Amino acid sequence: MQVVTRIAELRAQLEPFRRAGRTIGLVPTMGYLHQGHEALVRAARQECDVVVVSIFVNPLQFAPNEDFESYPRDSERDRAILSAAGTDFLFQPAVAEVYPRPLLTDVAVPELSRTLEGRTRPTHFQGVATVVLKLFHIVWPDKAYFGQKDGQQVAVVRRLCEDLDLPLELRVVPTVREQDGLALSSRNVYLSSEERRAAPSLHDALLCGREAALAGKEGQAVQAAMEERLRKEPRVRLDYAAVVDPDTMQPKSDLTGQVMLALAAYVGRTRLIDNLVLDL
Ligand code: AMP
Repeated sequence: MQVVTRIAELRAQLEPFRRAGRTIGLVPTMGYLHQGHEALVRAARQECDVVVVSIFVNPLQFAPNEDFESYPRDSERDRAILSAAGTDFLFQPAVAEVYPRPLLTDVAVPELSRTLEGRTRPTHFQGVATVVLKLFHIVWPDKAYFGQKDGQQVAVVRRLCEDLDLPLELRVVPTVREQDGLALSSRNVYLSSEERRAAPSLHDALLCGREAALAGKEGQAVQAAMEERLRKEPRVRLDYAAVVDPDTMQPKSDLTGQVMLALAAYVGRTRLIDNLVLDL
């Protein structure tokens, strides 16, 4: 595995592969890797000739009161994981390489960014859209890999690609979970042991929502079923539970076709998100 920190060098390294007609897969991450990230890398390894993984904790997608500075980082461990998973290039730029001067350009999908996560994190998806578009232009991948764990991010990136005719295929990988249902997340490391025991209630709430949806309940009732399950867990404070269309992120009442059950909750001081997509 080659570790590259400069944009120009990565482009120079990838150019011969592109010219030779090799397909390039990109897996964007913020590091502190776990088996969820590994699933993305494995999918890229299976489907592409050249696998590029980026590790970049993107300051633009964190609000001033969020955990940019304290976001967990372990470069050595990440490199060992990526190397073992068959990564060809690790792109790990410094903040100054990606943002050498203040941006005067906005990249945003406001319509999909205001609801759900956007309520609590109003600038988050503009930061995501900006860095993802920059990474796409730096790497120029044939396929890019994202986790369903961040369902709204998938919707934003998909619409960005469609609206701007980006010539790449978006690949969405199912959420990898612990045995007790907790979705793997780099932020799980923040949980105390008691909080860790309470955290699977997010997934339990999604399962309660799914049960209600499969029983034919409407959106509001499904949302209420998720909320009720979380109210039973004193260590968990709900931010939102929602039943939405997975493309538009708009609330859905009549539950037919694709439906996304999404929630965010604080477990202690740690904010976790999770979702399930149902085909009804
Ligand atoms: P992050 O490093 O948190 O920005 O995540 C990088 C990518 O990994 C994103 O596309 C996430 O959706 C994906 N990801 C994070 N956690 C999981 C998980 N538990 N299962 C599958 N993909 C995940």
